[in-house]
Amino acid sequence: MSTVMTFQTDTTSSVQTEKLGELLGKQLKGGEVFELASDLGGGKTTFVRGLARGFGSSDHVASPTFTINRQYRAGASTLYHYDFYRLSDAGTMHAELAEEIDEPGSVVVVEWPEVVKDVLPDIHIELFIDVVDEDIRRLRFKYPEPLEYVFELARTSEDY
Ligand code: ADP
Ligand code: MG
Repeated sequence: MSTVMTFQTDTTSSVQTEKLGELLGKQLKGGEVFELASDLGGGKTTFVRGLARGFGSSDHVASPTFTINRQYRAGASTLYHYDFYRLSDAGTMHAELAEEIDEPGSVVVVEWPEVVKDVLPDIHIELFIDVVDEDIRRLRFKYPEPLEYVFELARTSEDY
């Protein structure tokens, strides 16, 4: 077992949350998997918007709540974005997701991953967002040590 790492920060606007996502996105090499949970309106999709931009995608990022999955192109890579909110069964998306996780260079982000937990690799990043106040969010990341490179910019930056 590798060491469990944490990174915690408070943001005071959606712009800040997006910028933090962008700093992490810039560090992605492909192959990373994120699981996101929060109160409703916590800022998960806002975070993914920055993440996708940092990863190099100019595609529009919207909430996949009703479509369940979306994908954003970034050069030869793809960022897959799922939202299983209120879904009790992932159906065929279960196998689809497993394939996308195995796809070289892909990044996978899952909001409300409970129904696909068994597909997620052991080495992945968890993000919990707490709504502290109207515009204040507490972002808490948990991940194994080999993924520390993703947080290198965020830890040293004052740019968000
Ligand atoms: P989720 O995907 O978790 O349901 P969204 O990203 O769709 O959340 O929505 C977050 C909402 O909260 C947006 O309306 C955004 O403007 C607002 N908001 C206010 N403050 C923040 C903040 N610090 N970080 C992220 N979003 C914030
Ligand atoms: Mg959302």
